[in-house]
Amino acid sequence: MTDELTHIDTNWLRRFRAALRRWHIHGGRDLPWRNCRDPYKVWISEIMLQQTTVAAVKPYFERFLKRFPNVAALAAADEADVLRLWEGLGYYSRARNLRKAAQAIVLIGGEFPATVNELLELPGIGRYTAGAIVSFAFDRAAPIVEANTLRLYSRLLGLHDDPRSTSGQRVLWSFAEKLVPTKSPGEFNQALMDLGATLCTPADPRCDECPVASCCRALAEQAQADIPAAKRRPTITETHEAYVAIESAGRYLIYRRPEGQRWAGLWDFPRFELPSRVKQSGRVGRVIETHQAPVVSLDDSPHPTKLTKTRQLLERRIATDFGPRVTLTERLTQLKHSVTRFRITLDCWLADTNGDSDLTTPHPTAWVAPSEFARYPFSTTGRQFAEMLLSELREPNLFRVVRRHS
Ligand code: SF4
Repeated sequence: MTDELTHIDTNWLRRFRAALRRWHIHGGRDLPWRNCRDPYKVWISEIMLQQTTVAAVKPYFERFLKRFPNVAALAAADEADVLRLWEGLGYYSRARNLRKAAQAIVLIGGEFPATVNELLELPGIGRYTAGAIVSFAFDRAAPIVEANTLRLYSRLLGLHDDPRSTSGQRVLWSFAEKLVPTKSPGEFNQALMDLGATLCTPADPRCDECPVASCCRALAEQAQADIPAAKRRPTITETHEAYVAIESAGRYLIYRRPEGQRWAGLWDFPRFELPSRVKQSGRVGRVIETHQAPVVSLDDSPHPTKLTKTRQLLERRIATDFGPRVTLTERLTQLKHSVTRFRITLDCWLADTNGDSDLTTPHPTAWVAPSEFARYPFSTTGRQFAEMLLSELREPNLFRVVRRHS
């Protein structure tokens, strides 16, 4: 199937490349990392752009480059500093892999690898990122397939099968290899991505403005709306969790999340799943990580017995997992957020240590004043909770007021 579908005749290829290059002179996007031949900058921008929009990435890219201007600076950085600059982008393992890969490059002498195979040896670099670095920074022919080109190639080929399946990927990579020229391959690959991002968009592609319309099988079949085949959506699981801000002499307990957990390496307030509310929603949805969890009014007025049970459960879990025998004093507010396939309702509680601040947890911990929260990298909701506590300090009862009026 691969050869049959991706067979390209020479005339088609010549026409396609010429039309794309002509269009790109005026139709390309103006991005801060565009026309950059520094493989380090290309690498950082490509990792940041995975599953995130260009607009969201721009300020992160500029801040990151200012703090870590080259491979050596990133390799020497503390993981917490890297995560702090990544905070809000999500997918934190990518930030940790960036640092690990920078250290690996320094170990081999600091020269940035210039071939796809060498780059694939580094943590967090897959086939697309390797192709992007090799073609954009070194201007060597290497194929690319990412979200925009996946959609564009699928339509050009009239690929009705799932392009994310193993066979679909084989078809697309084979096609990408045939497309990429030896002359200015970096610019050509950027033109492909720009066309996918600006004209061959997921909904309502602008085919009447498309420079390669005469090369497109989906347009010929009027099948643009059906190609690429829709992703299978995961079932969303709704869960109920609790955050507890444990206070001792004006400082709050935070801990560094261990390897193997969500948000590994980030700092967080003690967080617990409340098992009674876990349920499969049966709904399907996008796999996302929300960048801002909305603050909502407390969703219900649980029966006093239920609240007492929740309090007791959390107090027991805190004693078992962290050490102090605390008293939960107040349910402050509630956040709703989504992580991968989980939709989470998160109750935020305050707790008092009753003078017992002895810790037994194996995780790195700290008692931190709200004014010091900014020094630590937090998960998105961890940062929101930290900001709430800080605001509460500046403007007591703010959240109680918000809660009453929301
Ligand atoms: S003609 Fe339409 S569907 Fe085909 S590549 Fe161009 S924009 Fe995409």
